[in-house]
Amino acid sequence: MIAIDGFSSCGKSTFAREIAARMGYIFIDTGAMYRAVTLYALRHGAVDGGWIDEARLVAMLPDIRISFRFNAARGASDVYLDGENVEREIRSIGVSNLVSRVSQIGAVREQLVRLQQQMGSAKGVVMDGRDIGTVVFPDAELKIFMTADPAVRAMRRYEELKEKGQEVPLAEIEENIRSRDLADQTRAIGPLRQADDALVLDNSHMTVDEQMAWVQDKLKALGC
Ligand code: C5P
Repeated sequence: MIAIDGFSSCGKSTFAREIAARMGYIFIDTGAMYRAVTLYALRHGAVDGGWIDEARLVAMLPDIRISFRFNAARGASDVYLDGENVEREIRSIGVSNLVSRVSQIGAVREQLVRLQQQMGSAKGVVMDGRDIGTVVFPDAELKIFMTADPAVRAMRRYEELKEKGQEVPLAEIEENIRSRDLADQTRAIGPLRQADDALVLDNSHMTVDEQMAWVQDKLKALGC
């Protein structure tokens, strides 16, 4: 198990996907799971304006079915909600603006952590999120804590959304990243923090190839 945690939009998924492709590992994007629950809440009336009806959402949890299926065209797994591919919809700014509040709810975290532990029980898994090295897999063979300059992260997210045809003002993205980082670091359950034995990777000025060389070095040292 390779556990990758870190701040919003610092390229964790790209990095994790690339490691999985090179090592023949399975990649699990846990942020996509919190996003899928948020989308479910939006679609089923558990959000009114910006207000989340927590009791209603918690009551819905047993009905939410999240799964992943490999998409060969993308070279990665898409997330499915009740059998529907929601990979695109979960990346919308509407979901991004709510997800950090949904992910603070204890019952949501309990359910998703359990599911992640089942999904990651096989050998050869790369999982990215906020609490993977601290809560989900505290015994992971390799833990990486990723960070990058906030301005670089906002620009990356801006380009990514633009490529998908979503024009979102840069200032709105910066605000979303800032508020999600704060919410993720200060929540009571499973907050974002660096595990004591995690290695820090600041990729502000690194290409994906440079990041791969860095991780391959670490894996070699571990004998993987
Ligand atoms: O990784 P991504 O930015 O898509 O994650 C979306 C949100 O899901 C994060 O801002 C965080 O609030 C939540 N999350 C979490 N724990 C994880 C993964 C994501 O709380 N393991």
